[in-house]
Amino acid sequence: MQPIFATSTYVQEEPGKHKGFDYSRADNPTRQAYEEALATLEGARHGLSFASGLAAVQAVIQLLDPGSRILVCDDVYGGTGRLFRRLFAKYNLDFHFVDMADREALKSAANLKPNLIWIETPTNPMMKVIDIRAMAQIAMKTGALLVVDNTFASPIFQSPLEMGADIVLHSTTKYIGGHSDLIGGALMMSRQDLFESLKFIQFAGGAVPSAFDAYLMHRSLKTLGLRMVQHNKNGMAVAEFLASHKRIKRVMYPGLKSHPQHSIAAEQMRGFSGMVSFDLDGNYETVVKFLKKLKIFALAESLGGVESLVNHPEKMTHASVPEEMRKKLGIGPSLVRLSCGIEDTDDLIADLQQAL
Ligand SMILES: *Cc1c(COP(=O)(O)O)cnc(C)c1O
Repeated sequence: MQPIFATSTYVQEEPGKHKGFDYSRADNPTRQAYEEALATLEGARHGLSFASGLAAVQAVIQLLDPGSRILVCDDVYGGTGRLFRRLFAKYNLDFHFVDMADREALKSAANLKPNLIWIETPTNPMMKVIDIRAMAQIAMKTGALLVVDNTFASPIFQSPLEMGADIVLHSTTKYIGGHSDLIGGALMMSRQDLFESLKFIQFAGGAVPSAFDAYLMHRSLKTLGLRMVQHNKNGMAVAEFLASHKRIKRVMYPGLKSHPQHSIAAEQMRGFSGMVSFDLDGNYETVVKFLKKLKIFALAESLGGVESLVNHPEKMTHASVPEEMRKKLGIGPSLVRLSCGIEDTDDLIADLQQAL
């Protein structure tokens, strides 16, 4: 077991002569052990950890030169979209938000000669599935870097690097941390040049996790595989239950045969994870009543923890998405997103049943 090295600095033998550690922003043994495990988990040569998922997003964008063009899937995580629109757009970076499940829209966007393509699959909260191999081909043709936010699938169910992605990102706050007790982010990559540039950004920018958080995340990795099996089982059972209920208008879960990109999901994922979105039949007041009646699903932002959570994207996680974009995506008053935890499956279904 790697100890928690709660140290900012390290004694040197002679000026500049040390055993690989001089200052913890650069490297820390607890963090290093965790980063090696992260790389292994994603089938990558290198792993880097960050103070949050968004700090990891920020590090990737800092690879780019001013004037760069970035294609982004349109229902990207709310905080990622906010970072792009409100912070990075003013540094002369050109972000294009595209529906990447729409082949025609994607084709014309690829003609813009992007420097970087940013995808998330399945997306949040609409659970759209993007064909990673097809995106890797577009990225190769246009000379763009392909970044895949793999937070929803986790490394257990999806391996984007094997399908041609250059960089994989995780908000480790979610499934990797898994216990709703920390904030963290990670990048995994095999290309040496990308690793060196991102390692420099991590060191120079300084958004690193503490040794304690690195220890917690490393510890969480040991149960990730088991947890994902139960998240997936609960996600599938809950999605099937909701799809058969008369008070539910539509269910979005990549594991359902009715999902528009189910065949791509089945091709590129080994499991469909625990995230389920749906539209309730009713107005906002009906939805609030439903949310208040739930006993096991706690009303809270975030996802991927062992406890089940429910979220109202329009008023909570996606409140910062421009209203026009929310309308276009279908994020309205009746949309609800569930993060199915690892509780007993029947208990979760009984909770939904009584609230409905
Ligand atoms: C939560 C999340 C992020 C941001 O991560 P933080 O740890 O909250 O900074 C990025 N992408 C996805 C898909 C997320 O769910």
